Amino acid sequence: MPRAKETILEIDLKALKHNFEYIKSKLKSDTKILAVVKAFAYGSDANTIAVFLQDLEVDYFAVAYVSEGVALRNAGVIVPILVLHPQAVNFKMLIENCLEPSLYSAKILNEFIAIASEEKQKNYPVHIKFNTGLNRLGFRESDIDAIVSITSRSSSIRVKSIFSHLAESENLDDTAFTKNQIDSFKNISKRFTKAIGYQPMLHLANTSGILNYTDAHLDMVRTGIGLYGFGNSEKENKNLLPMATLKSVVSQIHTIEKGESVGYNRAYKSDNLKKTATIPIGHADGIGRQYGNQKGFVTINNKPAPIIGNVCMDMIMVNVTDIDCKEGDEVVIFGKETDASAFAKSANTISYEIITAISQRVKRVILE
Ligand SMILES: *Cc1c(COP(=O)(O)O)cnc(C)c1O
Repeated sequence: MPRAKETILEIDLKALKHNFEYIKSKLKSDTKILAVVKAFAYGSDANTIAVFLQDLEVDYFAVAYVSEGVALRNAGVIVPILVLHPQAVNFKMLIENCLEPSLYSAKILNEFIAIASEEKQKNYPVHIKFNTGLNRLGFRESDIDAIVSITSRSSSIRVKSIFSHLAESENLDDTAFTKNQIDSFKNISKRFTKAIGYQPMLHLANTSGILNYTDAHLDMVRTGIGLYGFGNSEKENKNLLPMATLKSVVSQIHTIEKGESVGYNRAYKSDNLKKTATIPIGHADGIGRQYGNQKGFVTINNKPAPIIGNVCMDMIMVNVTDIDCKEGDEVVIFGKETDASAFAKSANTISYEIITAISQRVKRVILE
């Protein structure tokens, strides 16, 4: 692998394939897989990831917003795409691109039916979202009759699936809430299917739901973070491979005398002779301010170099007093050894946040 000469996010498609196959190995052979590729496929490169997964015969994709789905269509994605949180203002664009909306309230359901009939659609596939405890988006069980009466009045849509989302499927210390969500969704599914008179697809599990609750698999599962290499537990992280490696280079080495300071607001003051390295990555690239002041560290020549002082917009300074390194050497911010979840932990956050934060300024390099 060539050494990084600038800040890059390396995307290892072999790791993605491994993770996809690992997740698949947890499922019955007829359970469908939906890959969640929202937010640039969790901060990586949605088009590349989606086209690759399409070749591996993934069944479905999900994105958060309509514009993300349109980008996938333009990149040649032809498998169905569920839009988890569409806004009514984009419904015409959604239909033009054959994207499938999640409809979660009477208001959004009625708005979609109005546009779908205006666009002369028949049986347009929609997905009805139920709230079973996350209290974020979704109808309640008590809305079933109202949904069925609204949808039955219109021939322009057809309910392709009903689904819900688990609130704490990664928490194995307390499984009661999740079990209750699973039961509650199964109950909703039965009642809904009976009321509407046909069988929509059922799906509930995210990555941790897949790994921890076999009875939540149903007809299809929705995996995001697992594809990118994180299983939300030490045990499962071992079975998965981080797909993305964030790398950079040493721009300059400084010798800091005792009593000198480093960076803005002189946040770091040296109590001794120190050596620092300046790295071209900052908060505009996704490294939050909370990683500064010796919380986060990067790896240079296999040794940890703590970030000292405040994170700047385009740079960080790290302590390399005990590291044999020179200008031009490669720096790893997160990847295989220090994975993104360990790096995130140093600043009290989680893998989801750091990987999706890597800004579009950082060049993506695809390893086939
Ligand atoms: C983001 C999202 C997922 C994926 O969750 P992971 O924990 O990344 O597997 C699944 N379902 C819904 C509704 C989501 O918003």
